[in-house]
Amino acid sequence: MAQAGGWRPPSDLPEVAFAGRSNVGKSSLLNRLVRRRALARVSRTPGRTQEINFFRVNDAFVLVDLPGYGYARVSRERRDQWRPLIEGYLTSSPALRGVVQLVDARHEPTADDRAMLDYLARIGVPTLVVVTKVDKLAASAGIARVEALREELGLDPSQIIAFSATTGLGRDELAEAVAGLVA
Ligand code: GDP
Repeated sequence: MAQAGGWRPPSDLPEVAFAGRSNVGKSSLLNRLVRRRALARVSRTPGRTQEINFFRVNDAFVLVDLPGYGYARVSRERRDQWRPLIEGYLTSSPALRGVVQLVDARHEPTADDRAMLDYLARIGVPTLVVVTKVDKLAASAGIARVEALREELGLDPSQIIAFSATTGLGRDELAEAVAGLVA
């Protein structure tokens, strides 16, 4: 298992981290956001199923792919490993400029999602919430869902983005928001 606050690359560039439960659509989102083949992996923390991947993007910032958490089919012990790993990264990364937290449009935020958002608020990291897979809802239902989540999570309108890796909805808005975090 990777160690909390374990080895990480030197932070010569600003970092933006992406978090969410397993299967929320994080890989698909990252592939839409940046062409993965164009990414240079700077490093990864040691560990098999749970690791943090660091990708350098356009020599402008480092995209940090945090491990997906809360996968129901793994043991509770394995499930809880994400917490020290992710919290260790978040508290030992002076170059961190913000976190993009993903939640699935079709599901209520999980207890883990809420714990992450509470934690980010407590440590004062700028946070964006991206609502994934909105193409699975009708357009009007998608808009209503994002607004309901915004209220429920107590977010400013500028902090929440509707996204679909399938249609590309929200891709440019997200890219701009990330650029704003690292500017
Ligand atoms: P990860 O585990 O968070 O990296 O999630 P993946 O990106 O692997 O996606 C999990 C599943 O959701 C896959 O079957 C994807 O094809 C699907 N998925 C991801 N993003 C979208 C989306 O925007 N729309 C739809 N309809 N399916 C998606």
